[in-house]
Amino acid sequence: MTPKLIDPFARPISYLRVSVTDRCDFRCVYCMAENMTFLPKKELLTLEELDRMCTTFIGLGVEKLRITGGEPLVRRDIMTFFHAMTRHLDSGALQELTLTTNGSQLERFADDLYAAGVRRVNISLDTLDEEKFARVTRWGRLPQVLRGIDAAQKAGLRVKINTVALKGFNEDELFTLTDWCASRDMDLTFIEVMPMGDLGNEDRVGQYWSLEDLRDQLRERFTLTDLPERTGGPARYVRLEETGQKLGFITPLTHNFCESCNRVRLTCTGELFMCLGQEDNADLRAALRNHPDSNAPLEEAIRAAIALKPKGHDFDYSRQRADGQVSRHMSHTGG
Ligand code: SAM
Ligand code: SF4
Repeated sequence: MTPKLIDPFARPISYLRVSVTDRCDFRCVYCMAENMTFLPKKELLTLEELDRMCTTFIGLGVEKLRITGGEPLVRRDIMTFFHAMTRHLDSGALQELTLTTNGSQLERFADDLYAAGVRRVNISLDTLDEEKFARVTRWGRLPQVLRGIDAAQKAGLRVKINTVALKGFNEDELFTLTDWCASRDMDLTFIEVMPMGDLGNEDRVGQYWSLEDLRDQLRERFTLTDLPERTGGPARYVRLEETGQKLGFITPLTHNFCESCNRVRLTCTGELFMCLGQEDNADLRAALRNHPDSNAPLEEAIRAAIALKPKGHDFDYSRQRADGQVSRHMSHTGG
């Protein structure tokens, strides 16, 4: 049997997040500049290359695949890729195939995703106010996303809403969002804004709303019970005793989650990032393209990259500037 991927800190790598495009039909203020220059097509892994890459990782013990971007559902023919991955679910090698999406294309694709074996989907939504939604996403329209969420639930997909906590933007919707998710039986996870990309005119430190603060506000109305559940990532969960609802908090800035990190990220150009917060990466595309007939060099490149996975990341807002900032955009690495 092929030995599994274990990093130098004895963490088994069982989770791969794959960005399938850097493009998006939205321009969220914390994620992209309004005028983005996207990569030329030939830089991107083709759908066949994405298949070969993911299949190789699955052969090395990856059990969970999350497809992201950019907006994964704007990649042309992406459903071909999802359907190709179904064979790994059928064989039992892959435990879960899932995606993170802005929801804009779900009305079109929800049924097909379910047919491909997807059972859960993370949908990003920061506000239920149409005007604010247009402001934060620049190009997005709320009714389209709400129709996408309806379609996902109707198709049988379990929905988790991801909300970026933004000071002075959605603080006043904390309870509205919580109640809305409860009423639709959707989980809800809050994410602290991360110092990604080019700060430019966006004052990211000013936007920072600590989730400690957010939890304190929740306690005004709910009793929060910490749940032991861990997914190997930065998320921590609580149950709201009054409603039974599960809420998640992703706090990469205030908590060190690295000790149980089980994941690596592949960009749409085939670079493998061993840690979201660090620049170290390995060019797997070369290993793949230079050896069309053998996967051995790719496997070797993956193992060599995992051997360099760092112990942790360096994000830190404590000095009131975005230290440890990483210059690439979230849409490049995939959130
Ligand atoms: N387009 C899809 C979406 O929006 O769900 C997938 C890619 S997006 C980069 C993945 C997640 O990253 C989204 O939930 C988004 O809100 C989050 N994100 C983007 N930029 C972020 C930032 N600077 N800080 C925290 N979360 C961010
Ligand atoms: Fe697009 Fe997602 Fe980034 Fe928003 S967060 S711009 S939807 S990739």
